[in-house]
Amino acid sequence: METENNKKNFIGTSETYLRDEFSAWEPYRIHQIFNWVYHYGCRDFSEMTNLSKVMRAQLADRFYFSLPHIQNKTRSLDGSIKYLFKLDDGALVESVWMPSDSRKTLCLSTQVGCRLNCSFCLTASLGLKRNLAAGEIIGQCMAINEDLNENDSITNVVFMGMGEPLDNLGPVIDALRLMTAPEAMRLSTRKVTVSTSGLVDKINEFKKENIHINLAISLNATEDETRDRLMPINKKYPIKALMDCLRSYPLKPQRRHTIEYVLLDGINDTDADARRLAKWLKGIPCKINLIPFNSFESSEYRPPPEKQTLKFQDYLISQNFSAFIRQNRATDILGACGQLAAESQKPSYV
Ligand code: SAH
Repeated sequence: METENNKKNFIGTSETYLRDEFSAWEPYRIHQIFNWVYHYGCRDFSEMTNLSKVMRAQLADRFYFSLPHIQNKTRSLDGSIKYLFKLDDGALVESVWMPSDSRKTLCLSTQVGCRLNCSFCLTASLGLKRNLAAGEIIGQCMAINEDLNENDSITNVVFMGMGEPLDNLGPVIDALRLMTAPEAMRLSTRKVTVSTSGLVDKINEFKKENIHINLAISLNATEDETRDRLMPINKKYPIKALMDCLRSYPLKPQRRHTIEYVLLDGINDTDADARRLAKWLKGIPCKINLIPFNSFESSEYRPPPEKQTLKFQDYLISQNFSAFIRQNRATDILGACGQLAAESQKPSYV
């Protein structure tokens, strides 16, 4: 547990925990505090004037406030900003803020490093150092919102930074509930996406939580032999098990999964792959995001030629899928998918 003089960080603390801790209080009290903290940005219990003095003192006795510290910012030519955060124990993680006309999307991290060892991802080279606490996850949003103008506040969140979100399920769920609660951060569940490499057991656990955010699945191959090599987790949860799990996922009306597919030249980008992909996904409500591989120094892969990427997309569209080629953001600052490693401490360009 995170402690400072035996106190707990209020940021990220769940409603369930608080109800237990203050079981004599009426439940709406917790919502009042959330509103102060996540909506009004209050960081001092003594300012919460609609609570009694005794309540404020009890809170201050048990909780403190801590947000991840912004150690560095790097601005991409496309306007994105990569944030390097230093956590209380000195661990480093990165998030990327990506503006467009209609939205400001934050790609945040859930672990320091990752243990899944996908062969095309730079984060894998770190191994897993530790899980992030819920407060360190939602704290990335809060610290960035405080750093930027109100006009630039985050409207969408994707859990696609460092780490495997479902390998850190409890804190990720706590962070998601606070992000989407009407009494806390107030993001629409439609605007929050959790990306997973496909941990079937955890997806099944997640289903039971009744949090209707969007799920993105990193499929990345159409044959087990190839996927085993790219994503060793496939040996435990092969493609068929993953597809069956998605088929039985209780989606709300008008919602669909996102299938992510990193295109690697000569490895998973052939015409036969496109046909197999369409077969696997038949009957699953989804859109497909094709992500041409983002290179990094030690990488053995290359993105396909543009012609092949377009051909792959065209085939999927001909089979009535929504298939998009994901525009790469922030590649010039190693801020794109698979490029986060929180290693570079280069001078800030901001
Ligand atoms: N662990 C989660 C989230 C982090 S990776 C997951 O696997 O989904 C976010 C996305 O980036 C995934 O779809 C992953 O396949 C993709 N990705 C990883 N490395 C990449 C690279 N070098 N180029 C392009 N996409 C990459």
